[in-house]
Amino acid sequence: MKRKDFIKKTALGITGIASIGAAVSSCKNEALEVPKININSNKVFNWRMTTVWGKNFPVFGESCNLLAEWVHKMSAGRLNIKVFGAGELAPGLQTFYSTSVGTTEMGAGASYYWQGISPAAPFFTAVPFGMNAQQILAWLIGGEGEGYQLWKEVYAPFNLLPLLAGNSGVQMGGWFNKEINTIADLEGLKMRIPGLAGKVLEKAGGAAITVPSGEIYTNLERGVIDATEWVGPYHDYKLGLNKAAKYYYTPGWHETGSQLEFLVNKKAHDSLPSDLQEILFTASLRVQAWVLAEFDAQNGAYLEKILESGTVIKQFPEDVLRVLKEKTDEVLEELTASDPMAKKVYASYNAFRKKINVWSELTEKSFYNNIVR
Ligand code: CA
Repeated sequence: MKRKDFIKKTALGITGIASIGAAVSSCKNEALEVPKININSNKVFNWRMTTVWGKNFPVFGESCNLLAEWVHKMSAGRLNIKVFGAGELAPGLQTFYSTSVGTTEMGAGASYYWQGISPAAPFFTAVPFGMNAQQILAWLIGGEGEGYQLWKEVYAPFNLLPLLAGNSGVQMGGWFNKEINTIADLEGLKMRIPGLAGKVLEKAGGAAITVPSGEIYTNLERGVIDATEWVGPYHDYKLGLNKAAKYYYTPGWHETGSQLEFLVNKKAHDSLPSDLQEILFTASLRVQAWVLAEFDAQNGAYLEKILESGTVIKQFPEDVLRVLKEKTDEVLEELTASDPMAKKVYASYNAFRKKINVWSELTEKSFYNNIVR
């Protein structure tokens, strides 16, 4: 083919691809459909993203930087996102508000921080005894994408569009300086454990204490708190928690797979040409894949370091977990009772969880139970 013909054919090809995208879709989930792409503008968009994470915080903060980098490259510099860590532009917990009113075009965090704004929000990150990373992704974008539809519905009144931003995987149950053998061992236990899980612990007789991340190590080491949860081996080792407590408990019943989010101001999103909207969405799915992979890769490596340091791994007894699950059901009933939207999301989440657990037990659980090392 002559060079001139090639250029001509390639140029025609772009138009051809655009109409194919619009005409044919073999995916049942509307959210994954690629709309007709029109490249009709060279306008450059310079956006700001505020986050609940510390700047460059391993995986969490890094994933925001990656999104910005990938979007910049994929858009050939037409969409530029400047990432700000918690406190640089706005306090971390202002992320939702700041993006909702359009002070920032984007935000990054996790929906369970916005429970006070919308009681339906926590289901899109993690609720105690909830779904794991694989299951929640199936709820969000598998099938007809029921979970993601609901998520968009919950955020729409706030002028926000949620995008997927990864998952931590099942977290660890936390660091303890005494053994937990029966539910009585939770009586009076002072533990740093936030959100709904904190409420569950209190119903089980413990005390949920709020401690900023910078003070967790000292508070645990000095006995101001008896226990703490954090994330998993990678982040926990970096905080030095293996030097402040002896027992490392599993599983993280309170965070069975925390889904993370990007927030986009709806008006800012609408102002983007269709190709940039798709680039942003596709880049967020790339982040979704990277975050879980990075968590698992690093946790595997750092678990080795933690075990070498003399930490004793313990499993919560089944009786203790059963009581915590009962208390969780009470907490979730109370949370959703007065909010119709939360009730609707809870119903969808629960129905999906029950169904998929039968399948997961038959396959994933059986696989894990039969790993031959
Ligand atoms: Ca955690």
